[in-house]
Amino acid sequence: MYERILVRYGDLNLKGKNKKSFSDRIDRLIREKLADFPVSYDFRHDRMFVLLNGVEGETVMNRLDRVSGIYSYSPITKCAVDLDEIARTAIQMIERKTGGSTTTFKVETKRADKQFPQTSQDISRELARRILPACPFLTVEVHDPKLVLSIEIRPEGAYLFTEQIRAMGGYPVGVGGKGLLMLSGGIDSPVAGYLAMKQGIEVECIHFESTPLTAIESVQKAIDIVEVLADYAPYAKMKLHLVPFEPLHRKIIEHIPESFIITVMRRMMYRIAEQVANRHDCLCVLNGESIGQVASQTIESMDVIGSVCDRLVIRPLATYDKIDIIAIARKIGTFDISNRAFEDCCTVYLPKNPVIRPSRKLAQHYETFFDYEPLVAAAVEGVRTLTLSPKEHFDIASKGLVVKEALAG
Ligand code: ATP
Ligand code: MG
Repeated sequence: MYERILVRYGDLNLKGKNKKSFSDRIDRLIREKLADFPVSYDFRHDRMFVLLNGVEGETVMNRLDRVSGIYSYSPITKCAVDLDEIARTAIQMIERKTGGSTTTFKVETKRADKQFPQTSQDISRELARRILPACPFLTVEVHDPKLVLSIEIRPEGAYLFTEQIRAMGGYPVGVGGKGLLMLSGGIDSPVAGYLAMKQGIEVECIHFESTPLTAIESVQKAIDIVEVLADYAPYAKMKLHLVPFEPLHRKIIEHIPESFIITVMRRMMYRIAEQVANRHDCLCVLNGESIGQVASQTIESMDVIGSVCDRLVIRPLATYDKIDIIAIARKIGTFDISNRAFEDCCTVYLPKNPVIRPSRKLAQHYETFFDYEPLVAAAVEGVRTLTLSPKEHFDIASKGLVVKEALAG
Protein backbone atom coordinates (compact mmCIF):
# COMPACT_ATOMS: atom_id res chain seq x y z
CA MET A 1 0.00 0.00 0.00
CA TYR A 2 1.03 3.61 -0.46
CA GLU A 3 2.81 5.31 2.38
CA ARG A 4 2.99 8.90 1.20
CA ILE A 5 1.05 11.41 -0.85
CA LEU A 6 2.62 13.68 -3.42
CA VAL A 7 0.93 17.09 -3.40
CA ARG A 8 1.33 19.40 -6.41
CA TYR A 9 0.72 23.12 -6.21
CA GLY A 10 -1.13 24.71 -9.08
CA ASP A 11 -0.54 27.71 -11.26
CA LEU A 12 2.29 29.10 -9.13
CA ASN A 13 4.70 29.38 -12.03
CA LEU A 14 2.59 32.26 -13.31
CA LYS A 15 3.28 34.31 -10.26
CA GLY A 16 6.96 35.18 -10.47
CA LYS A 17 8.12 36.79 -7.26
CA ASN A 18 5.00 35.77 -5.38
CA LYS A 19 5.77 32.14 -5.95
CA LYS A 20 7.71 31.69 -2.74
CA SER A 21 5.10 33.32 -0.53
CA PHE A 22 2.37 31.31 -2.26
CA SER A 23 4.07 28.00 -1.71
CA ASP A 24 4.93 28.94 1.89
CA ARG A 25 1.29 29.70 2.43
CA ILE A 26 0.08 26.40 0.99
CA ASP A 27 2.64 24.59 3.16
CA ARG A 28 1.16 26.34 6.16
CA LEU A 29 -2.45 25.61 5.15
CA ILE A 30 -1.63 21.94 4.70
CA ARG A 31 0.08 21.73 8.09
CA GLU A 32 -2.93 23.35 9.75
CA LYS A 33 -5.35 21.04 7.98
CA LEU A 34 -3.46 17.93 9.04
CA ALA A 35 -2.38 19.20 12.47
CA ASP A 36 -4.23 16.47 14.36
CA PHE A 37 -2.49 13.61 12.52
CA PRO A 38 1.00 12.25 13.20
CA VAL A 39 2.02 12.78 9.57
CA SER A 40 5.34 14.34 8.54
CA TYR A 41 6.39 16.39 5.54
CA ASP A 42 9.02 16.59 2.89
CA PHE A 43 8.78 20.03 1.28
CA ARG A 44 10.06 20.74 -2.23
CA HIS A 45 9.66 24.05 -4.06
CA ASP A 46 6.37 23.55 -5.94
CA ARG A 47 5.25 20.27 -4.37
CA MET A 48 5.53 18.32 -1.18
CA PHE A 49 5.20 14.83 0.20
CA VAL A 50 2.93 14.00 3.11
CA LEU A 51 4.40 10.96 4.83
CA LEU A 52 1.44 9.10 6.26
CA ASN A 53 3.18 7.33 9.16
CA GLY A 54 0.30 4.87 9.33
CA VAL A 55 -2.56 7.39 9.00
CA GLU A 56 -5.36 6.37 6.62
CA GLY A 57 -4.58 7.91 3.20
CA GLU A 58 -8.25 8.53 2.32
CA THR A 59 -8.73 10.68 5.41
CA VAL A 60 -5.71 12.78 4.57
CA MET A 61 -6.81 13.18 0.94
CA ASN A 62 -10.28 14.33 2.06
CA ARG A 63 -8.62 17.06 4.07
CA LEU A 64 -6.40 18.06 1.15
CA ASP A 65 -9.56 18.58 -0.92
CA ARG A 66 -10.22 21.58 1.33
CA VAL A 67 -6.93 23.37 0.75
CA SER A 68 -7.06 25.93 -2.06
CA GLY A 69 -3.94 26.24 -4.19
CA ILE A 70 -3.37 22.48 -4.32
CA TYR A 71 -3.65 21.44 -7.94
CA SER A 72 -3.53 17.68 -7.62
CA TYR A 73 -2.23 14.87 -5.46
CA SER A 74 -1.18 11.26 -5.90
CA PRO A 75 -0.90 8.36 -3.47
CA ILE A 76 2.70 7.20 -3.82
CA THR A 77 4.30 3.83 -3.24
CA LYS A 78 8.01 3.91 -2.63
CA CYS A 79 10.43 1.05 -3.29
CA ALA A 80 14.10 0.41 -3.86
CA VAL A 81 15.74 1.65 -7.06
CA ASP A 82 15.91 -1.75 -8.69
CA LEU A 83 14.02 -2.69 -11.84
CA ASP A 84 12.83 -6.07 -10.53
CA GLU A 85 11.62 -4.51 -7.32
CA ILE A 86 9.90 -1.65 -9.18
CA ALA A 87 8.19 -4.09 -11.55
CA ARG A 88 6.99 -6.25 -8.64
CA THR A 89 5.56 -3.21 -6.85
CA ALA A 90 3.98 -1.93 -10.07
CA ILE A 91 2.25 -5.26 -10.77
CA GLN A 92 0.65 -5.23 -7.33
CA MET A 93 -0.53 -1.62 -7.79
CA ILE A 94 -1.95 -2.34 -11.24
CA GLU A 95 -3.80 -5.44 -10.05
CA ARG A 96 -5.31 -3.54 -7.16
CA LYS A 97 -6.36 -0.64 -9.38
CA THR A 98 -7.79 -2.57 -12.35
CA GLY A 99 -9.02 -5.69 -10.58
CA GLY A 100 -7.74 -7.52 -13.66
CA SER A 101 -10.10 -5.77 -16.13
CA THR A 102 -8.75 -5.08 -19.59
CA THR A 103 -7.43 -1.59 -20.12
CA THR A 104 -4.89 0.44 -22.11
CA PHE A 105 -1.64 1.30 -20.44
CA LYS A 106 1.73 2.98 -20.57
CA VAL A 107 4.72 3.53 -18.31
CA GLU A 108 6.11 7.03 -17.85
CA THR A 109 9.46 7.46 -16.15
CA LYS A 110 11.18 10.55 -14.81
CA ARG A 111 14.78 10.28 -13.73
CA ALA A 112 15.63 12.83 -11.06
CA ASP A 113 18.75 10.78 -10.27
CA LYS A 114 21.00 11.23 -13.28
CA GLN A 115 23.45 8.73 -11.77
CA PHE A 116 21.07 5.98 -12.75
CA PRO A 117 22.63 4.34 -15.82
CA GLN A 118 19.60 3.98 -18.11
CA THR A 119 17.60 6.75 -19.78
CA SER A 120 13.97 7.32 -18.82
CA GLN A 121 12.78 5.75 -22.05
CA ASP A 122 14.90 2.67 -21.50
CA ILE A 123 13.57 2.27 -17.99
CA SER A 124 9.95 2.56 -19.18
CA ARG A 125 10.56 -0.01 -21.88
CA GLU A 126 12.35 -2.38 -19.51
CA LEU A 127 9.54 -2.15 -16.98
CA ALA A 128 6.79 -2.67 -19.53
CA ARG A 129 8.61 -5.79 -20.66
CA ARG A 130 8.49 -7.14 -17.10
CA ILE A 131 4.96 -6.01 -16.26
CA LEU A 132 3.05 -7.09 -19.39
CA PRO A 133 3.51 -10.88 -19.05
CA ALA A 134 2.18 -10.71 -15.48
CA CYS A 135 -0.77 -8.51 -16.51
CA PRO A 136 -2.16 -9.97 -19.76
CA PHE A 137 -5.24 -7.72 -19.45
CA LEU A 138 -3.13 -4.66 -20.37
CA THR A 139 -2.61 -3.35 -23.90
CA VAL A 140 0.09 -0.76 -24.49
CA GLU A 141 -1.21 2.52 -25.86
CA VAL A 142 1.17 5.46 -25.88
CA HIS A 143 -1.10 8.31 -26.94
CA ASP A 144 -4.18 8.21 -24.74
CA PRO A 145 -3.95 5.30 -22.31
CA LYS A 146 -6.54 4.81 -19.56
CA LEU A 147 -3.90 3.78 -17.07
CA VAL A 148 -0.56 5.54 -16.69
CA LEU A 149 2.02 4.09 -14.35
CA SER A 150 4.29 6.99 -13.39
CA ILE A 151 7.69 6.39 -11.91
CA GLU A 152 10.20 8.82 -10.50
CA ILE A 153 13.71 7.57 -9.92
CA ARG A 154 15.42 9.48 -7.12
CA PRO A 155 18.64 8.75 -5.25
CA GLU A 156 16.76 7.65 -2.15
CA GLY A 157 14.18 5.49 -3.89
CA ALA A 158 11.71 4.92 -6.69
CA TYR A 159 8.29 6.60 -6.41
CA LEU A 160 5.34 4.97 -8.17
CA PHE A 161 1.82 6.23 -8.78
CA THR A 162 -1.13 5.45 -11.01
CA GLU A 163 -3.47 8.22 -9.98
CA GLN A 164 -3.35 11.98 -10.22
CA ILE A 165 -6.39 13.35 -8.43
CA ARG A 166 -7.53 16.92 -9.14
CA ALA A 167 -7.87 19.04 -6.03
CA MET A 168 -9.40 22.50 -5.47
CA GLY A 169 -6.87 24.37 -7.60
CA GLY A 170 -6.78 28.17 -7.48
CA TYR A 171 -4.63 30.04 -4.95
CA PRO A 172 -4.02 29.58 -1.24
CA VAL A 173 -6.81 31.25 0.69
CA GLY A 174 -5.69 34.57 2.16
CA VAL A 175 -3.15 35.63 -0.48
CA GLY A 176 -5.86 37.66 -2.18
CA GLY A 177 -6.87 39.72 0.85
CA LYS A 178 -10.25 39.58 2.52
CA GLY A 179 -13.80 39.90 1.16
CA LEU A 180 -17.20 40.26 2.80
CA LEU A 181 -19.68 37.68 1.50
CA MET A 182 -23.39 38.49 1.56
CA LEU A 183 -24.71 35.14 2.71
CA SER A 184 -28.43 34.59 2.46
CA GLY A 185 -29.00 30.95 3.34
CA GLY A 186 -29.90 30.16 -0.27
CA ILE A 187 -28.00 27.94 -2.67
CA ASP A 188 -26.00 30.58 -4.50
CA SER A 189 -24.15 32.68 -1.96
CA PRO A 190 -22.23 29.78 -0.30
CA VAL A 191 -21.02 28.71 -3.74
CA ALA A 192 -19.92 32.28 -4.45
CA GLY A 193 -17.99 32.23 -1.16
CA TYR A 194 -16.34 28.91 -1.99
CA LEU A 195 -15.22 30.18 -5.40
CA ALA A 196 -13.80 33.33 -3.84
CA MET A 197 -11.82 31.31 -1.29
CA LYS A 198 -10.60 29.01 -4.03
CA GLN A 199 -9.22 32.08 -5.76
CA GLY A 200 -7.31 33.09 -2.64
CA ILE A 201 -9.75 35.52 -1.00
CA GLU A 202 -10.33 35.04 2.69
CA VAL A 203 -14.03 35.38 3.45
CA GLU A 204 -16.06 36.85 6.27
CA CYS A 205 -19.84 36.55 5.99
CA ILE A 206 -22.62 39.03 6.56
CA HIS A 207 -26.21 37.93 7.01
CA PHE A 208 -29.20 40.25 7.25
CA GLU A 209 -31.66 38.79 9.71
CA SER A 210 -35.19 40.00 10.29
CA THR A 211 -36.23 38.08 13.39
CA PRO A 212 -38.96 38.03 14.61
CA LEU A 213 -40.43 39.00 11.24
CA THR A 214 -38.71 35.88 9.91
CA ALA A 215 -38.00 32.63 11.75
CA ILE A 216 -34.77 32.23 13.67
CA GLU A 217 -34.32 28.94 11.81
CA SER A 218 -33.35 30.96 8.75
CA VAL A 219 -30.46 32.39 10.79
CA GLN A 220 -29.58 28.86 11.86
CA LYS A 221 -29.34 27.97 8.17
CA ALA A 222 -26.81 30.74 7.62
CA ILE A 223 -24.85 29.55 10.66
CA ASP A 224 -24.87 25.93 9.48
CA ILE A 225 -23.66 26.99 6.03
CA VAL A 226 -20.84 29.05 7.49
CA GLU A 227 -19.76 26.06 9.58
CA VAL A 228 -19.41 24.06 6.35
CA LEU A 229 -17.63 26.85 4.45
CA ALA A 230 -15.26 27.42 7.36
CA ASP A 231 -13.63 24.08 6.59
CA TYR A 232 -12.03 25.77 3.56
CA ALA A 233 -10.80 28.75 5.58
CA PRO A 234 -7.50 29.18 7.45
CA TYR A 235 -7.69 27.41 10.82
CA ALA A 236 -11.17 26.21 9.80
CA LYS A 237 -12.68 29.38 11.27
CA MET A 238 -14.97 31.93 9.72
CA LYS A 239 -16.71 35.06 10.98
CA LEU A 240 -20.41 35.65 10.55
CA HIS A 241 -21.66 39.19 11.06
CA LEU A 242 -25.37 39.19 11.90
CA VAL A 243 -27.12 42.43 11.00
CA PRO A 244 -30.38 43.28 12.82
CA PHE A 245 -32.34 44.15 9.70
CA GLU A 246 -35.89 43.93 11.02
CA PRO A 247 -36.50 47.64 11.80
CA LEU A 248 -35.36 48.64 8.31
CA HIS A 249 -37.25 45.76 6.78
CA ARG A 250 -40.53 46.88 8.38
CA LYS A 251 -40.08 50.44 7.21
CA ILE A 252 -39.39 49.31 3.67
CA ILE A 253 -42.55 47.22 3.57
CA GLU A 254 -44.52 50.12 5.06
CA HIS A 255 -43.28 52.93 2.81
CA ILE A 256 -41.96 51.59 -0.47
CA PRO A 257 -44.25 50.75 -3.41
CA GLU A 258 -44.54 47.02 -3.73
CA SER A 259 -42.73 46.63 -7.03
CA PHE A 260 -39.66 48.37 -5.58
CA ILE A 261 -39.48 46.59 -2.23
CA ILE A 262 -36.79 44.12 -3.29
CA THR A 263 -34.78 46.78 -5.10
CA VAL A 264 -34.73 49.08 -2.09
CA MET A 265 -34.15 46.25 0.37
CA ARG A 266 -31.09 45.18 -1.59
CA ARG A 267 -29.79 48.71 -1.79
CA MET A 268 -30.02 48.96 2.00
CA MET A 269 -28.14 45.67 2.33
CA TYR A 270 -25.36 46.96 0.09
CA ARG A 271 -25.11 50.20 2.06
CA ILE A 272 -24.72 48.28 5.29
CA ALA A 273 -22.33 45.75 3.73
CA GLU A 274 -20.06 48.54 2.54
CA GLN A 275 -19.74 49.94 6.07
CA VAL A 276 -19.20 46.54 7.66
CA ALA A 277 -16.58 45.75 5.00
CA ASN A 278 -14.75 48.98 5.86
CA ARG A 279 -14.80 48.20 9.57
CA HIS A 280 -13.36 44.72 9.07
CA ASP A 281 -10.75 45.51 6.41
CA CYS A 282 -12.58 43.62 3.69
CA LEU A 283 -11.40 44.83 0.29
CA CYS A 284 -14.51 43.79 -1.60
CA VAL A 285 -18.11 42.71 -1.20
CA LEU A 286 -19.04 39.32 -2.63
CA ASN A 287 -22.46 37.92 -3.34
CA GLY A 288 -24.37 35.17 -5.12
CA GLU A 289 -26.07 37.24 -7.79
CA SER A 290 -26.39 35.49 -11.10
CA ILE A 291 -27.56 37.26 -14.24
CA GLY A 292 -31.16 36.60 -15.15
CA GLN A 293 -31.98 34.33 -12.23
CA VAL A 294 -34.76 36.49 -10.78
CA ALA A 295 -36.21 39.98 -11.29
CA SER A 296 -33.64 41.56 -9.00
CA GLN A 297 -30.83 40.06 -11.03
CA THR A 298 -31.33 41.54 -14.48
CA ILE A 299 -28.31 43.67 -15.29
CA GLU A 300 -30.49 46.77 -14.93
CA SER A 301 -31.43 45.65 -11.41
CA MET A 302 -27.91 44.70 -10.50
CA ASP A 303 -26.76 48.12 -11.65
CA VAL A 304 -29.38 50.02 -9.63
CA ILE A 305 -28.79 47.85 -6.57
CA GLY A 306 -25.00 47.77 -6.70
CA SER A 307 -24.63 51.47 -7.45
CA VAL A 308 -25.07 52.45 -3.79
CA CYS A 309 -21.98 50.49 -2.77
CA ASP A 310 -18.65 52.28 -2.97
CA ARG A 311 -16.63 49.08 -2.62
CA LEU A 312 -15.58 46.72 -5.34
CA VAL A 313 -18.41 44.20 -5.73
CA ILE A 314 -17.45 40.76 -7.03
CA ARG A 315 -20.17 38.41 -8.23
CA PRO A 316 -18.44 35.07 -8.75
CA LEU A 317 -21.64 33.48 -10.12
CA ALA A 318 -22.66 36.30 -12.47
CA THR A 319 -22.44 34.09 -15.54
CA TYR A 320 -23.08 30.68 -13.98
CA ASP A 321 -25.95 28.40 -14.85
CA LYS A 322 -28.11 27.25 -11.94
CA ILE A 323 -27.31 23.61 -12.75
CA ASP A 324 -23.59 24.26 -12.40
CA ILE A 325 -24.13 26.21 -9.18
CA ILE A 326 -26.10 23.32 -7.70
CA ALA A 327 -23.41 20.84 -8.69
CA ILE A 328 -20.81 22.87 -6.78
CA ALA A 329 -23.17 23.32 -3.80
CA ARG A 330 -23.54 19.54 -3.61
CA LYS A 331 -19.81 18.99 -3.90
CA ILE A 332 -18.94 21.39 -1.09
CA GLY A 333 -21.74 20.16 1.14
CA THR A 334 -23.97 23.23 1.43
CA PHE A 335 -26.82 22.17 -0.85
CA ASP A 336 -28.89 20.20 1.66
CA ILE A 337 -28.70 23.00 4.21
CA SER A 338 -29.64 25.66 1.65
CA ASN A 339 -32.52 23.51 0.50
CA ARG A 340 -34.15 23.45 3.94
CA ALA A 341 -37.37 25.42 3.62
CA PHE A 342 -37.40 28.55 5.75
CA GLU A 343 -38.38 32.04 4.90
CA ASP A 344 -35.67 34.61 4.94
CA CYS A 345 -36.07 38.32 4.67
CA CYS A 346 -36.34 38.10 0.90
CA THR A 347 -39.04 35.50 0.71
CA VAL A 348 -41.35 36.96 3.35
CA TYR A 349 -43.81 39.45 1.84
CA LEU A 350 -42.39 38.70 -1.56
CA PRO A 351 -43.99 41.19 -3.95
CA LYS A 352 -45.97 39.64 -6.77
CA ASN A 353 -44.67 41.94 -9.48
CA PRO A 354 -41.18 43.16 -8.73
CA VAL A 355 -39.81 45.69 -11.16
CA ILE A 356 -37.54 44.04 -13.73
CA ARG A 357 -35.90 47.14 -15.16
CA PRO A 358 -35.75 49.67 -12.32
CA SER A 359 -34.12 53.05 -12.78
CA ARG A 360 -31.66 54.62 -10.34
CA LYS A 361 -33.74 57.82 -10.28
CA LEU A 362 -36.94 56.09 -9.26
CA ALA A 363 -35.19 54.05 -6.57
CA GLN A 364 -33.67 57.26 -5.17
CA HIS A 365 -37.05 58.91 -5.27
CA TYR A 366 -38.81 56.16 -3.32
CA GLU A 367 -36.01 56.16 -0.77
CA THR A 368 -37.02 59.70 0.19
CA PHE A 369 -40.31 58.23 1.50
CA PHE A 370 -38.69 57.50 4.85
CA ASP A 371 -35.53 58.54 6.69
CA TYR A 372 -33.39 55.48 6.21
CA GLU A 373 -29.96 56.79 7.20
CA PRO A 374 -30.36 56.49 10.98
CA LEU A 375 -31.76 53.00 10.48
CA VAL A 376 -28.77 51.98 8.36
CA ALA A 377 -26.43 53.41 10.99
CA ALA A 378 -28.26 51.56 13.78
CA ALA A 379 -28.08 48.31 11.83
CA VAL A 380 -24.31 48.71 11.42
CA GLU A 381 -23.93 49.49 15.14
CA GLY A 382 -26.08 46.52 16.08
CA VAL A 383 -24.00 43.91 14.23
CA ARG A 384 -23.16 40.83 16.29
CA THR A 385 -20.26 38.73 15.17
CA LEU A 386 -19.92 34.98 15.64
CA THR A 387 -16.73 33.04 14.92
CA LEU A 388 -17.80 29.65 13.62
CA SER A 389 -16.03 26.38 12.91
CA PRO A 390 -17.05 22.90 11.73
CA LYS A 391 -15.45 21.60 14.92
CA GLU A 392 -18.04 23.17 17.19
CA HIS A 393 -21.72 23.46 16.27
CA PHE A 394 -23.47 26.67 17.25
CA ASP A 395 -27.18 26.21 17.91
CA ILE A 396 -28.99 29.53 17.94
CA ALA A 397 -32.45 28.20 17.07
CA SER A 398 -32.74 26.47 20.45
CA LYS A 399 -32.07 29.70 22.28
CA GLY A 400 -35.02 31.89 21.35
CA LEU A 401 -37.06 33.46 18.60
CA VAL A 402 -35.06 36.63 18.16
CA VAL A 403 -31.34 36.78 17.47
CA LYS A 404 -30.70 39.64 19.86
CA GLU A 405 -32.24 37.75 22.79
CA ALA A 406 -30.82 34.39 21.79
CA LEU A 407 -27.31 35.82 21.83
CA ALA A 408 -27.87 37.76 25.06
CA GLY A 409 -29.16 34.71 26.94
P1 ATP B 1 -29.12 32.56 -2.66
O1 ATP B 1 -29.43 31.31 -3.37
O2 ATP B 1 -27.70 32.76 -2.28
O3 ATP B 1 -30.06 32.83 -1.50
P2 ATP B 1 -30.99 33.79 -4.07
O4 ATP B 1 -31.24 32.99 -5.27
O5 ATP B 1 -31.87 33.72 -2.90
O6 ATP B 1 -29.49 33.62 -3.64
P3 ATP B 1 -31.46 36.48 -4.04
O7 ATP B 1 -32.40 36.26 -2.91
O8 ATP B 1 -31.93 37.21 -5.23
O9 ATP B 1 -30.83 35.22 -4.57
O10 ATP B 1 -30.20 37.22 -3.45
C1 ATP B 1 -29.10 37.55 -4.27
C2 ATP B 1 -27.90 37.68 -3.39
O11 ATP B 1 -28.09 38.70 -2.40
C3 ATP B 1 -27.62 36.42 -2.58
O12 ATP B 1 -26.88 35.48 -3.32
C4 ATP B 1 -26.84 36.98 -1.43
O13 ATP B 1 -25.49 37.19 -1.78
C5 ATP B 1 -27.49 38.34 -1.19
N1 ATP B 1 -28.52 38.22 -0.12
C6 ATP B 1 -29.84 38.09 -0.28
N2 ATP B 1 -30.47 38.01 0.92
C7 ATP B 1 -29.51 38.11 1.86
C8 ATP B 1 -29.50 38.10 3.30
N3 ATP B 1 -30.61 37.95 4.00
N4 ATP B 1 -28.33 38.21 3.93
C9 ATP B 1 -27.18 38.35 3.23
N5 ATP B 1 -27.14 38.36 1.89
C10 ATP B 1 -28.28 38.24 1.20
MG1 MG C 1 -29.78 33.51 -6.53
